[in-house]
Amino acid sequence: MNKAVFLDRDGIINREIGDYVYNVDDFVLNETIADVIKLLKESGYLIIVVTNQGGISKGIFSMADFAEVNGYMLSELEKKGAIVDEVYFCPHHPDVTKCLCRKPDPLMIEKAIARFDIDRENSYMIGDAPRDVLAAERAGVKGILVEANSNILDVAKMIVNGTI
Ligand SMILES: [Mg+2]
Ligand SMILES: [Zn+2]
Repeated sequence: MNKAVFLDRDGIINREIGDYVYNVDDFVLNETIADVIKLLKESGYLIIVVTNQGGISKGIFSMADFAEVNGYMLSELEKKGAIVDEVYFCPHHPDVTKCLCRKPDPLMIEKAIARFDIDRENSYMIGDAPRDVLAAERAGVKGILVEANSNILDVAKMIVNGTI
């Protein structure tokens, strides 16, 4: 089986700006995130991004806008040697479309677990919102709540060292 670290996007990978990020101009990588991903990958963890993008359902931005920002995220990280294994996103918003994938529901994590044969017991989810942790717990993965836009390199080191 594989082990994985699930990462929320906004606030963890890129700067949380207090609004939807659907434009590459608003997408700024958080300072140490490439190092975080590299460290975890070197230690054998798959890196899987799990992100709520309810602005799509609300019509604030399109699937194509999301795809463009997503591609930008992957290429900016890759330039720094950080490879993401997969990105799962929920385009729904409960005001418009009810679904089972939006965090705190665990379906995005469950899909990844099934597809990548992930060992829940040895996997983690890092997020900046209680719903990230809830989704993780519902999937049987350890949830780690951090401040938005914080340096999570120490958290990654604790995962690698088995001290969290
Ligand atoms: Mg977030
Ligand atoms: Zn959904």
